[in-house]
Order: sequence, then structure tokens, then C-alpha cells
Amino acid sequence: MAIDATLPYDDQNIFARILRGEIPNRTVFEDEFALAFHDINPQAPTHVLVIPKGAYVCWDDFSAKASEAEIAGFVRAVGKVARDLGLVAPGYRLLANTGTDSHQEVPHLHVHLFAGQPLGPMLLR
Ligand code: 5GP
Repeated sequence: MAIDATLPYDDQNIFARILRGEIPNRTVFEDEFALAFHDINPQAPTHVLVIPKGAYVCWDDFSAKASEAEIAGFVRAVGKVARDLGLVAPGYRLLANTGTDSHQEVPHLHVHLFAGQPLGPMLLR
């Protein structure tokens, strides 16, 4: 179900639980600012989620309230994950669903990283 991105942060959301180690994940990268792990239901040969360690509902929340260090750390982590997976030359797609119309389902900011095949048009036509 799509979430309302204007609601306060819910610390029982599934990615908060992954960050606390309550639910397992297939980690590909972790540092003080970010965790990257494989999506449980991949929609491309490579489908990784990158999330900030801080409690932010969505891109709007993060871009408005995160510190400069958190923003820089998160953006650099996304780039590093793609680089470390060898995806710069073949190319990749980043996607951050935000709120109801985007169909964001998990209310903790996450950037989808898709790669591994030609990804087609950006949206359904
Ligand atoms: P959204 O629609 O919110 O942008 O994407 C949420 C993503 O989280 C989906 O692609 C979904 O497959 C993934 N997801 C949901 N629950 C879990 C989980 O428990 N573990 C992992 N690794 N991915 C999850």
C-alpha cells in the first residue's frame, strides 16, 4: 500500500527494523551514513536499495532535514555502491519513490538502483 509521505517517521517500518538488525538482509555496502542491500523482490538483474542510517520518511523529509554530512554521505554511498558493482560503464538507473502517486511502500527513504540489462523507458507509456 502506498504511504503518505507527510506522516511522521514510523520506527516500526521494515527498513528501520533492518537497520536495527531485527530482520536479515543481503548487505552490499555499509558505512556510518548508509546501508545498501539487495531488494527482496528484484525487478532487474541488479536491484539494490540504498537507505540512509537516519530516520527519514522520504526524499522530501531527508532533503529538508538531514545534515550536510548525512546528505553528502548518503549521496556518496549511492555512487560508491554503483561503482563497486561495476555499473558505471554499462549504466544504471536510480529511483526514489516519494509519497502516494509514486507508490512508495516503505516509509524510510530508499533509492532503488537498477542495472544489469537495458532498462527500457523510464515510465510506462
Ligand atoms: P517502494 O515501492 O517503497 O519504492 O519500494 C519498496 C521496496 O522494498 C520494494 O522493491 C520491495 O520489494 C522492497 N522490500 C520490501 N520489504 C523488504 C524486505 O523485507 N527486505 C528487502 N530486502 N526488500 C524489501
